[in-house]
Amino acid sequence: MTEKLILLGSTGSIGVQALEVARRQNIKVTALAAGKNVDLMETQAREFLPEIAVMYDEAAAKELAIRLKDTSVKVLGGEKGVCFAAASNGDTVLNAIVGIAGLRPTMTAIEAGKTLALANKESLVTGGTLVKRALKETGGKMIPVDSEHSAIFQSMQGVPDGAVSRLLLTASGGPFFGKTKKELENVTVSQALKHPNWSMGAKITIDSATLMNKGLEVIEAVHLFDLPADKIDVVVHRESIIHSGVELVDGAMLVQMGVPDMKLPIQYALTYPQRAALGERLDLISLSRLTFYAPDTSTFRCLPVCIDAVREGGLKPTAANGANEMAVELFLRGKIGFLQIAELVEAAKENQPKVSSFNLEDVFEADKAARKFVLSRV
Ligand code: NDP
Repeated sequence: MTEKLILLGSTGSIGVQALEVARRQNIKVTALAAGKNVDLMETQAREFLPEIAVMYDEAAAKELAIRLKDTSVKVLGGEKGVCFAAASNGDTVLNAIVGIAGLRPTMTAIEAGKTLALANKESLVTGGTLVKRALKETGGKMIPVDSEHSAIFQSMQGVPDGAVSRLLLTASGGPFFGKTKKELENVTVSQALKHPNWSMGAKITIDSATLMNKGLEVIEAVHLFDLPADKIDVVVHRESIIHSGVELVDGAMLVQMGVPDMKLPIQYALTYPQRAALGERLDLISLSRLTFYAPDTSTFRCLPVCIDAVREGGLKPTAANGANEMAVELFLRGKIGFLQIAELVEAAKENQPKVSSFNLEDVFEADKAARKFVLSRV
C-alpha cells in the first residue's frame, strides 16, 4: 500500500483522478510533476504541499517558483527536474505523463527502487525491453494503471504460474466503430475527440479513434505479461464493462468488470494488494446485454501495424509510436486528415531499420527519426 506518492503528469486526466484517490485514501503526496499547466499545478501544490513540484517547461517552472514563494515547496524545471522528482522521497511513482516523455522518468524511478504504477504506456511501447531489464536487475515492481492491463492483472491474482493461455484485451471501438474508410476521409478533430465511454486526454482519445491505442496496448501487454502478440485477443466491446481478462489452460475465462471509471485501476495500483471502497456499482439488470465484435483491421490499420511492429521487435514499436505522436499532433492542428495518421505510422514502421540490440539513447534517436520522417511526408 502506497504511503508516499510521487505523481508525474499530475495536471492531466489520470493525474487529477490520482489526486482524488490520494485525497480519499489519505496518501501523502511528496512530489508533483507536469508539463506546463502552471495554474493547475499551483492549485495542486497549495493543497497537497509536496516537497517538490516540477514543471517540464522551464518558463512555467520559473513562473511556478514565483507563485509558490510563500510555501515550503521546492520548484524544479526541465526533464532533469522531472527525473529528480521520480527518484525523490516516496515509495510509489505513478507515471501519468503522456508520450515517450515518460520513458526517462520511468527508468529513473525503477533505478531508484520505487514501485512503478504505470499509466504511461508509451514507456513500455518504446523501451519495454530496457524497462523489463531494469526491473529484473533492481528487483523492482511495476503495477499497471491502464484499465485493460489492470483488469488482466486483477484477473491473474491467485492464478498459478503457467496457467494463463491467452489474454483478452477489450476495446470500445472508439467514436468511429462501424465506419468505412470512405466515411472516415473527412472526419473532424472534434468528432475524433468524442469518445463514447471514457473522458481522457486528447492524445489517447485520438489513439482510441484510430485503434492505435489498442495497438499500443497489445505491445504494452506483451511486455507486462511476457506473452507473444499471437496470444493476445483484441475484442471490440462497445459497452466498456468488461475491462479485459485472461483465458486459462482449462478454458476458464476470468475477467474484471465494472463501470468505466479510471479511479478503480488507479486506486488498485496504489493500494495493491489491498482493496478500498470506491464509487459506483454495476447494475447488470439495467445493462441487460453486452456485445462483442472482431476489430476491423483493414479500416483501422494502426492496430495490425502495432502487432507487426512488436512481432518484428527491435525499434519498430518505437518508430510506430514516435510517428503516431507526431501524426496525432499534426491531426489535432488540422494539418493532416484522420486516415493519414495510420498511413504515416505504417510507413515509419517500415522505414525503421531492423536492429537486434539497442540502448536508451537509441530509442530516443529512433523516436526522433520517426518524427522527422513524418514531417518529411506532409
Ligand atoms: P493528459 O494529456 O490528460 O495529461 C498528460 C500529463 O502529462 C499532463 O499532466 C501534462 O502536463 C504532462 N506532461 C506532458 N509532457 C510532459 C513532460 N515532458 N514532462 C512531465 N509532464 C508532462 O493525458 P492522460 O492523463 O489522458 O494520459 C496520461 C498517460 O496515461 C498516457 O500515456 C495515456 O496513454 C495513459 N492512459 C490514460 C488514460 C485516461 O483515461 N486518460 C487511460 C489509460 C492510460 P501539462 O498538462 O501541465 O502540460
